[in-house]
Order: sequence, then structure tokens, then C-alpha cells
Amino acid sequence: MRVLVVEDERKIASFVRQGLEEQGFDVEVCGNGTEAFERATTRPYDALVLDIMLPGRDGLSVLRGLRERKVAVPVILLTARSELNERLDGLNLGADDYMTKPFFVEELAARLQAVVRRASGEPAGLLRAGDLTVNLLTRQVRRGDRDVELTAREFSLLERLLRTPGRVHTRTQLLEHVWGYDFDPETNLVDVNIRRLRRKLDDDTAPAPLIETVRGVGYRIRQVG
Ligand code: CA
Repeated sequence: MRVLVVEDERKIASFVRQGLEEQGFDVEVCGNGTEAFERATTRPYDALVLDIMLPGRDGLSVLRGLRERKVAVPVILLTARSELNERLDGLNLGADDYMTKPFFVEELAARLQAVVRRASGEPAGLLRAGDLTVNLLTRQVRRGDRDVELTAREFSLLERLLRTPGRVHTRTQLLEHVWGYDFDPETNLVDVNIRRLRRKLDDDTAPAPLIETVRGVGYRIRQVG
């Protein structure tokens, strides 16, 4: 799979290149938006990894330009934690997914495979687990035929877990990712929010909670169909 990584921060670009190459991707790196647009319109790629803040054209402008020209290559945006609006703009402009920095390159590889796989299938920005669907664009959450209202924290906690079904996340990882700053390690914020999520997601008849507790370690999404 041939991927164009558009990122001007050298450290990130080289760690992404190395990680993706180890996973068998054929990687090109470009640090300038204008040049990236040139390449993406003239060379065949299976996917783009596109940072938003770039010298030359910014990532969103590159994306808009590609979609205007009907270049349908799957695009994963790289965003900073604070760039929620840009993220939504990006999804509206036709990005297929986004990664918030910092991220694990294994996760980027998995998502690249997913966006390429569904390039002609499922709508973008949809996460699923069994009968639960989470729309990253509209932020609508549904369990079966029921709408579920979540707070922003609950939503990002659920999103984090859904991204990697079956993988266990420690409380510290979830705190860092969802709350994003240093907390007292004794805080029970994660547990409290998981409890609320379960109350909202699971109904009384559910045989097992969708979010599993892995004793002494953390939480994960139960793997369902
Ligand atoms: Ca940048």
C-alpha cells in the first residue's frame, strides 16, 4: 500500500515513516502543503496522512482542493487535541478519519487499512461495535434503535475505546487521552465516567456490559459481531 505522509514536523514524519514501513507500507513523506497537493493530483496513492498546520497550503485547503478535483483518495487528518473545529471541517470536506496527536503508529496503520478497505463501502467517520454506532461527524450515538446522549468527555472516552476493540486501556492512558493533563493518579474520573457510560449504553436486559473491566488493568470494548 502506497501512502503519502504530509507532515512538516520532522520528528513526527520520521517516526510515522519508520512505523508504517515496518508494517509493510510504501511511504513517501512531504513537508509542504502546496507540494503535497501537486503530488496527490499527479501520482497514485492508496491513502494520504495529512497534517493540518503546514507550510504552503494548509491541510484543509489541500483536502478541499483534492475533493473539488474529484480525487477520492482516502485521507486521514492529523490534528492537535485543541483542533476540534478543524477536525469537523475536515470530516465535512471529505476526510475519512482523523488521528489526534500524539498517537500510536500501529493505530494509524490499522486505520489506514480500514479507510482503504471501506473506500467504496461504508460512510466515513462511523465507528461500530455490535449494535452500537458512533458518528464522528454528527457526534450521534445509537444503541440499536435508541439515541444515546453523551457529554463531550463521555463521547471521547467511548471513541477512544471503540477505536481499538479488544485492546485494554489503562486508566492512566485514558486520563491522558481524554482529559489531557496531569491528574492525581488516585483520581476516579475514569471509573466515574465509565460507570455513567455503561448506564447510558447498556439496558437492563444486556447480558454483559459493552465496556468490560479488566481487573487491575483498565477497560476495553467487548468484541462483538
Ligand atoms: Ca504541522
